[in-house]
Amino acid sequence: MTFASLGLIDPLLRTLEDLDYQTPTPIQAQAIPAILKGRDLLASAQTGTGKTAGFALPLLQTLTQQGSVVASNSVRALVLTPTRELAEQVLQSLQRYGEHLPLRSYAVYGGVSINPQMMALRKGVDVLVATPGRLLDLYRQNAIKFNQLQLLVLDEADRMLDLGFADELDQLFSALPPKRQTLLFSATFSAPIRQMADGMLRDPLMIDISPRNSAIASVEQWLVPVDKKRKTELFLQLLAERKWPQTLVFAKTRKAVELLLEAVQAQGVKADCIHGDRPQPSRLRALECFKNNEVSMLIATDVAARGLDIPELPLVINFDLPINAEDYVHRIGRSGRAGASGEAISLVSADEVRQLAAIETLTQKLLERREQINFAPEHRVPETRVGGQLIKKPKKPKKPKTYGGKGKTHLGNWFDQS
Ligand code: AMP
Repeated sequence: MTFASLGLIDPLLRTLEDLDYQTPTPIQAQAIPAILKGRDLLASAQTGTGKTAGFALPLLQTLTQQGSVVASNSVRALVLTPTRELAEQVLQSLQRYGEHLPLRSYAVYGGVSINPQMMALRKGVDVLVATPGRLLDLYRQNAIKFNQLQLLVLDEADRMLDLGFADELDQLFSALPPKRQTLLFSATFSAPIRQMADGMLRDPLMIDISPRNSAIASVEQWLVPVDKKRKTELFLQLLAERKWPQTLVFAKTRKAVELLLEAVQAQGVKADCIHGDRPQPSRLRALECFKNNEVSMLIATDVAARGLDIPELPLVINFDLPINAEDYVHRIGRSGRAGASGEAISLVSADEVRQLAAIETLTQKLLERREQINFAPEHRVPETRVGGQLIKKPKKPKKPKTYGGKGKTHLGNWFDQS
């Protein structure tokens, strides 16, 4: 199959040739013709599947072919994203794919001054990429009107709900013209996402490009059981032993990220971090340095887990398991992309066994455990099995209570809290 056979116009085909995209990915093959026909879309696909081009190419083509001129403070297409990083990345893709087209794209997000954004919107924008909170601010300040809007894309809709944008989204949706084309992308089709889709989409084409088998199959995954308090020590030991290549590390909290960064830098490793407390420009700079190999390790919270586009990243480390099993898939999807093989190592302590079980249920794969010499945990990580259930230790039979005795019942220690 070729891009030309999907009905794309010459200026886009030229760009794709320059980029050396030879064949459409599965989501592109399904989504592009449907979007060009004006259909709504409900797609389960994540970063790494080519979904951005899947919606960006037909969106740019539709706007070009309609040819109308965008009015001041107006937009013709809107892409909502959960994070600033993803907004920037989608903007870059739109600009790259639309290189030979007479369209203007722009991105607005919080954490940076609103004034330049208001100025830029004055001229009108064909495609606006936005995070929900900042867009609502701009709307309330009359910096943006939606009466010319004909196309709405919700990128990583589930993530927007996870991040607590539901209210902002409701307010925005009620401000948008009901007659429009809507494309909804989400990693999961959870109940709230289905509800959102029911309310917004007209007879959508459903596409399910599950990353679970494709992205994950090429990634070698294993875990090291370890006591929580010894994770940093183990991390440094593995780092010294294995001479890790360019590595993306995930930790649970901003504080954990900072502490680990300090420990790693003290070993002379060039590392940087991104998390929600860092100002936007320095987050983007850290990401760029990592992409350019100026630093070899990037430590991040899940804010950064989605939307990062780092080709052929060889290694992802989960210093902590994510609370949400879907995030594990997103995290390790950073390695083994576009068919390259990758490795994902998780440091797992006993208190994370429920998260581990949820991940194994989701991926239908038991993570191989490789104990590290001298790090056998005092708090054993309970056994799990495919299907994800914990294997409970059989309860010891209750001792019959005797008058005056302690009568203590042993509940088993399958869920140690360290
Ligand atoms: P995405 O899932 O949209 O973030 O895209 C993942 C990566 O795949 C990006 O680096 C794109 O530039 C690249 N890509 C997207 N579509 C294709 C294609 N058809 N052929 C080759 N690379 C692609």
